[in-house]
Amino acid sequence: MQDFYRYVEDHSREYIPELQRLLREPSISSNTVGISTTVSLLEKIMRRMGCEVHQIVIQDSKPFLFAEIGEGERSILFYNHYDVQPVEPLNHWDSGPFMAEVKNGHIYARGAADNKGNLFARLAAVETYLKVNGRLPCRVKFLLEGEEEVGSPHIEAFVRRHAEMLNADLCFWESGTVNQDGRPFLSFGMKGLAYLEMRCRTLPSDIHSSWAPIIDNPAWRLLYALSSIRDESGELTIDGLADHIETISEEEKQRVAEIDFDFRFYRDLYKLRDFLNPSDEQLLLQRYFFSPTSNISGIHSGYTKAETKTVIPHEAWANLDFRLVPHMSPELVVGLLRSHLNRRNFHDVDLTLKCGLAPYRCQPKREILDNVAVASREVFHGEPIFVPMLAASGPMHYVCSPHRLPVISFSIAHPGSQIHAPNENIRIQDLLRGIMFIGRILEIFS
Ligand SMILES: [Zn+2]
Repeated sequence: MQDFYRYVEDHSREYIPELQRLLREPSISSNTVGISTTVSLLEKIMRRMGCEVHQIVIQDSKPFLFAEIGEGERSILFYNHYDVQPVEPLNHWDSGPFMAEVKNGHIYARGAADNKGNLFARLAAVETYLKVNGRLPCRVKFLLEGEEEVGSPHIEAFVRRHAEMLNADLCFWESGTVNQDGRPFLSFGMKGLAYLEMRCRTLPSDIHSSWAPIIDNPAWRLLYALSSIRDESGELTIDGLADHIETISEEEKQRVAEIDFDFRFYRDLYKLRDFLNPSDEQLLLQRYFFSPTSNISGIHSGYTKAETKTVIPHEAWANLDFRLVPHMSPELVVGLLRSHLNRRNFHDVDLTLKCGLAPYRCQPKREILDNVAVASREVFHGEPIFVPMLAASGPMHYVCSPHRLPVISFSIAHPGSQIHAPNENIRIQDLLRGIMFIGRILEIFS
């Protein structure tokens, strides 16, 4: 591996322009600007290294790219996405979001961390490995998606048609971070997601609020309904939901206790007075990884301007995202929530599931993790931080469950990467280490 590491170090500057070229194409998932150029750039890189590349469109989806290269019995599947989040608010960026400016050892651009930097590190690792060694030690598959940031609406259909492509010995997923001292968090799953709208409409149109003594208000109705599903400590109180939460095993608790998680860093980063329900740090971590949540993403009703208007609004609605732990499907949560609300006479509160992702978790064998730890010591000069699953969600279940793939999620983002926010960035050092780490991971499968 020393030749490989040395090559990456000696050619470190040569990786940057190609990544910048990718970052300068907008490829925001909700529109089409830059999508076809991004797809062509990626295809070009993969063909250059000798991959067989397939561009697959499902109905009106953005193209999926599937590529394969290498020989041997063992294979590794890399999942990444080339689409990015919108860039607003634009005036909060220090330089244009698609300028891909290099400053103080960082590259700034929308998509630098989520997910083009990661995607590029993987492609660069495979290409560099081929340059240094002539051939790959195992088979490598890439699945690149263009709609991850809008909930992967076509991936289920893609997998239904092409499940056989996704068989592998390990899947390398794309999210996470390195920690403050540069060691990687590596996780073995993702929480699921149920994104739903709760809407209460009680009147055909707004009316004078002098009717308030005898005509109910949908905003109050919605607030009572909302407050029935979670208590102040953050615990979900939906009837029957707790029966679907796995108890945390002693082994799991032990592993969580070993996670080096810097709460103070995040308290300062988000300028918090404290965390929600801060009993002790161990319990906070257990909740972070193993508890389902209900979050209000947005809430709206009536007159919200600064001037005065006394009115009973005709409707109120809220968008909620539930994060789901293993064995909890989006449909299960919506079903339990519906019954819960009916039991409390909230028949006038409508539920619409807008986006659902099942959770997924499958930890690789000890032998693989031991090798991954060796790779981390060589590249990141420290132990990896294994965590049970990501508290975030993604389409992992679709990609990994047909063949029940063991999964490791790894990203070159750092805690200040500003993912989904202005001034998104990666550190060039993390990019280079990411390339080296992935190169070393390929060796594990030789
Ligand atoms: Zn994202």
